[in-house]
Amino acid sequence: MQMKLLEDRIRAEGRAMDERVLLVDSFLNHQVDTELMLEIGREFKRLFADSGITRIVTVESSGIAPAAMTALEMGLPLVIMKKYPSPRNQEGTLETEVFSFTKNSPYMLTIKTKYITPGDRILLIDDFLANGEAAFGCIRLVEEAGAQIAGIGTVICKSFQPGKKKLEEAGYRVEALADVAYMAKDVIRYVGEAE
Ligand code: 5GP
Repeated sequence: MQMKLLEDRIRAEGRAMDERVLLVDSFLNHQVDTELMLEIGREFKRLFADSGITRIVTVESSGIAPAAMTALEMGLPLVIMKKYPSPRNQEGTLETEVFSFTKNSPYMLTIKTKYITPGDRILLIDDFLANGEAAFGCIRLVEEAGAQIAGIGTVICKSFQPGKKKLEEAGYRVEALADVAYMAKDVIRYVGEAE
């Protein structure tokens, strides 16, 4: 379900650096518009209200603002998966390697098992969905902890990259609040818009 308020904001302030990277750092990942994040939280609550979610999970750092508002609106705890540049195995911690889209290098994604309970139904929230590397890393850790992914919410999806399709093919429900079909320098076209 696309969100007009967000689409308009991306159109007004987002900058397509090239065909792959969209900059939205004036309201989402550097400066944060908390009113917009609250609306995003409300929209995710509406979309996943009937999914029996017990916990919200995100990845540091740009997923935190929308995920926190979603958790607040749904009255649920928020758990933040941590990123470390190199492996560091700690007791009670699960970890998996993820390839970073923006940094073009691998990092370790980690979570303490005490913050995910077997039987939890997790809603995974992130800022962007591109190749799906971050989402699949989170899924591996959530499932290794004995919990279930009940849904994935991304603020912005770039549908011309394979992440969304791969997740849906693997059986996960994905909701994107803004779904970009095509990008070129200073051009953005959303899914459903005429060329
Ligand atoms: P993926 O793992 O799906 O390939 O990429 C998702 C992660 O990479 C997100 O957590 C986000 O932080 C970052 N990312 C992917 N594409 C973009 C983009 O176009 N702009 C920005 N700012 N971050 C992105």
